[in-house]
Amino acid sequence: MKQNQVRALSLSPPIIPPRSRLFCLEPIGVGTPDVESLTGYIARLAEAHSVSAGVLFGYELVPFVDNSYWREKLSSATTSSLLGYGFLGHTRAVNGTGKIANEWVPVLEKATMRPDLSWLTLSRWREILSTLSLLRQERAWCSACYQERRLDQQVIYEPLIWCVEAVKSCLKHRQHLQTQCRFCHRQSAPLSSRSRPGFCSRCRNWLGLQSKTKCTATTLTNDEFEKQTWVIRNVGDLLSTEPDAKESLTSDTITHSLNLCIETLFGGSPTLLSRRARVPKQTISNWRVGVIPSLDALLRVCFASRVSLISFIYGRIPQVIAAEKPQAASKAHIDLKTRAARTLDLQEIKEVIDKAFTEQLPPTLVELAQRVGLPLPTLRYRFRSQCRAISKRYRVRKQQFHLEVTKTARRALEAALIDESHPSPADVARNLGMDLNKLIRILPDLCRKLSNWHIEGRKQRWQVVGVELETILKEWPPIPMREITKRTGYCETSLNRHHRALCRELAARYLNYRTTIKSSIVNPDPDLTN
Ligand SMILES: [Zn+2]
Ligand SMILES: [Zn+2]
Repeated sequence: MKQNQVRALSLSPPIIPPRSRLFCLEPIGVGTPDVESLTGYIARLAEAHSVSAGVLFGYELVPFVDNSYWREKLSSATTSSLLGYGFLGHTRAVNGTGKIANEWVPVLEKATMRPDLSWLTLSRWREILSTLSLLRQERAWCSACYQERRLDQQVIYEPLIWCVEAVKSCLKHRQHLQTQCRFCHRQSAPLSSRSRPGFCSRCRNWLGLQSKTKCTATTLTNDEFEKQTWVIRNVGDLLSTEPDAKESLTSDTITHSLNLCIETLFGGSPTLLSRRARVPKQTISNWRVGVIPSLDALLRVCFASRVSLISFIYGRIPQVIAAEKPQAASKAHIDLKTRAARTLDLQEIKEVIDKAFTEQLPPTLVELAQRVGLPLPTLRYRFRSQCRAISKRYRVRKQQFHLEVTKTARRALEAALIDESHPSPADVARNLGMDLNKLIRILPDLCRKLSNWHIEGRKQRWQVVGVELETILKEWPPIPMREITKRTGYCETSLNRHHRALCRELAARYLNYRTTIKSSIVNPDPDLTN
C-alpha cells in the first residue's frame, strides 16, 4: 500500500513531447483538389501569429534556409524587408517543382512540425513536370469563392489550383479568375510582405465580392467552360494524388506514354498528334528524347487524345481508350477550327494583312496568323513579302514606341525629382500606368536618384514629426497616444519606429497624469472638499 502511494506521488518530471517553434497550423484540403498553396499557408501562418508575412519570412524562416544567397542577404539587408523586390518575382516557385520549393518545404515542416506540407506544392511531380509555364507569376483568385467562404464563416485561404497557369477560371462560379485588384487596379505576387488571404497585399482591401458590388470578373462561354472543366478536373486529380511508390516516375515514363499514345491513337504519326493538340512538332520530338514536358502542353496532348492526365503519366492508355472511346470530341473540336480557317479565301486574308499594315502598332506575325486563322508557317509561305514587310514595320514601330515610352517616363521622373512631395518611383510608375520593374529597367539611374530623393523626403517628414512630438511633450495636460496619432497623421507603430524614446516619454507622462487624476478622485484633497 505504501509503495503504491509513493508511486502515485512520484516527483519525476512528466515527459513533454517536443514543441514546434511556430504554431502547428493544419493545412487546408490536403489530398483534395482544393488543397492550399504553400505561399497561402505562409500568409495564414503569419496571420495566426499576428505578424506580417514579411516579418515571419525574414525573422523565422530565412535564418533556417540552407542557402548562401539567403545567408548573404541576412547579413546585408533589413530582416523584415527580405521578402522584397529581390525575391518577389520568385515567390511563385515556392509552390512549384524546383529548387526553391525543395528548400522551403523542409524549413516550414521543421518550424511547424507538420509532415504534410509537401502536398501544398507540386514538388511531388518534379521528375515529370517542367517549371516552364507551370505557375503564374501573379496572384489569382475568385472573388465569389472568397465571399462565400467569409459568409459561411470558413477559413479564408488560397488554393494551390489558382496558382497553376493552365487554370483560368472557377468552375463553381463559372467566372474567370481575377489577377487585378478592383480598388487599386494592381497585380500582386503570390506572396509578399503584406500578404493576407482574401485581401489585396497592395491596398489591403477585401477582394471578395461585396453585395451590391459589380463583379469585374468575366463569365465563361460554353466552349471555355467545357475546356476549363477538363483542365481543372485533371489538374485537381494531380493535386490530390500521391505518386505511386511502386512506379518510379521519370522522363522515360512520359516518353513511353507518348510513344504508346502516338502508336495507339494517331496511327504512329507524331505530326497528326502535333496538329490535333496544337503543340509544335519539335516539342513532341523533344519529349520523345527525354525532355521534361510543360504542364500546359501535356494537358493539350491529353485533351487531344482524350486520356486523363494521371492515366497518361502512368502509361495506362490502352485500357482508357477502350473505356472512353476517345477522339470523337477532340476531332470535332479540331475540325471546327480547321473549317473556320478555310472559310477565309486568299483575297480576304490579303485584305486583313493590308489593314494590319496600316495600324499604329502592327500585330506580330503570331497575332496576325491567329487573326486570319492560318498556321504561321502557311501564312509565311503564302504571303512571304507581306510578312517580311509587316515584321519589319512591327520592329520599327516597337522601337519607336519604346523610345516614346522612355521619353515620357524620363519626363515624369525628372518632374518628380523637383516635386516637394518627394514621390517614390512606385508613385511615378502608378501615375504612368506602367509596371515598376519595367520603369526601373529602362531608366535605372533616374529611378535610383528618385528613390534617394524619396528617402530624403521621408527623413525630413519624420524630423518635422519629431519637432511636433517635442512640442506635445511640453503641453499640459498630456494627451494619450491615440490623440497624438490623430494630430500627426501617423499610426502608433510608425511613430514608435522613428521616435521610440520620445513616444515612451509621452506615454509615461500621460500614464503618470492618469494615475494622479485617479488617486485624486479616490482620495480627494481634504482642503478642497471642506
Ligand atoms: Zn469561385
Ligand atoms: Zn488593391
